Amino acid sequence: MRNAAIIALLALLPCPASAQKSTPPGPGKVAQEVRDYRIDNEDRIMRELQEFLAIPNIASDTPNIQKNAAHLVEMLEARGIETHLLPISGRGPVVFGKLISPEAKRTVIFYAHYDGQPVDAAAWTDGKPFEPVLRDAAIEAGGKRIPFPENSAQHRAVYDDAWRIYARSSSDDKSPIVALLAAIDALRAKKIPLAVNLKVIFEGEEEAGSTNLQRTLELHKNLLGADLLITADGPVHQSGRPLVFFGNRGEIDMDITVYGPVRALHSGHYGNWAPNPAIELARLLASMKDADGQVLIDGYYDDVTPLGNDEQQALAQMPANDAELQRELGIAKPEGGGKKLVELIQRPSLNIRGMRSAYVGNQSQNVVPEAAEASLDARLVKGEDPERKFQQIAAFIRKQGYYVIDHVPTMEERHTYPLIARFVYGGGYRASRTSMDLPVSKALVQLIQNATGGNAVIAPTLGGSVPMYIFEDLGLPWIGVPIVNYDNHQHSSDENLRLGHFWRGMEIYGAILADLNW
Ligand SMILES: [Zn+2]
Repeated sequence: MRNAAIIALLALLPCPASAQKSTPPGPGKVAQEVRDYRIDNEDRIMRELQEFLAIPNIASDTPNIQKNAAHLVEMLEARGIETHLLPISGRGPVVFGKLISPEAKRTVIFYAHYDGQPVDAAAWTDGKPFEPVLRDAAIEAGGKRIPFPENSAQHRAVYDDAWRIYARSSSDDKSPIVALLAAIDALRAKKIPLAVNLKVIFEGEEEAGSTNLQRTLELHKNLLGADLLITADGPVHQSGRPLVFFGNRGEIDMDITVYGPVRALHSGHYGNWAPNPAIELARLLASMKDADGQVLIDGYYDDVTPLGNDEQQALAQMPANDAELQRELGIAKPEGGGKKLVELIQRPSLNIRGMRSAYVGNQSQNVVPEAAEASLDARLVKGEDPERKFQQIAAFIRKQGYYVIDHVPTMEERHTYPLIARFVYGGGYRASRTSMDLPVSKALVQLIQNATGGNAVIAPTLGGSVPMYIFEDLGLPWIGVPIVNYDNHQHSSDENLRLGHFWRGMEIYGAILADLNW
């Protein structure tokens, strides 16, 4: 059974094989043509987005995640895109699609995910994360609910750029999929041929950790021949300007427990005598960094692959809004010895995610605690190996006099070693970065600058972690071209999409499909 938006689409689509202009009109002109098409078709595009958002998409909700995949197949096949489902047991499949253009010499894979973060409906202003709501501005800015305009016999529906759609995955990450498909529709309607062969990988368990993605892609490697992968996941720059990014940090998670007496002791009877693990842990953690945030662990910065010329130049040109962030976040003096935030995320970090020992506040007890725990994370940059990073930190803990183990200490160990730390690796993966010096990198940056009037922010690496090494391991250079607003409440309640960003994203994707060449 086909849904309404797709029926409307089939009626609108010209035959893909119809006569096409031979030379691409250039990214700026393509963006304009896509805009013209969009203005005439906002009603249809928004209905397609709404219908997609109305299908609940939590990765663990197997029946609904399968419905999403089936719906995606319909959306792709309506465009004549050859589709294959790459199954994952108990999860939504990877939806793979392929659209060959006879004259194209390059193939680009477009990655996005169709699953979303779990929802707590009660925390949403409108209470129903899978019933898309339109507002005339962001809720924080007093945005009011308004009805979705629809085409009538007299009037074409018009959607304002400042309006926002509220629904789970409206930003993360269903809207880029709809923007890409609408861009294909626009190019066809305007008889602009695709310059590249397009493949798509739409994942159904990204928010659940992409546990099966690498294995699934390895199994279907034969489908994945390509020259470039573009990931659509993530928001644009905080300045609101479009973003192109070339890297992500990796990450390792660790847990550390320092042990005191075998049970908590009365602080009056035993204080001054029984060693206090909370103080020992605090001392240990504090010794890992200096007051400027520089990590003092031997070799911590040794494996970092230095930035090339293009990366350094891009970094210098990135907008700096550190002063505003300091004001907003109540920070008098940031770490980093005067370096900018964008420079500091090019280095590995070491962070305490949380700490615990006995009880505090109303629950506090006058004891010498039996243990103190902290969870740490380290963000890795290109060149660093997760296991080696863990070993560097473990070696540092040993150097501070600790007996480092991976289990709860035995009585014999407690009797033997004055300082004991249980230090456990909680998983992680390496960073990934595509060189900005590659011809494809330069071509894509130039194209997006042309399509957006030179407005795009170019980032060598973002601070967050996404397992993009999976694509690197498949031999694919990858580049991030996100489109959604940064203030989209991604992963939280009231997730939303600003329509102006969505429309601009369509134009950028249209320009890539019509003009990318290197
Ligand atoms: Zn995402």
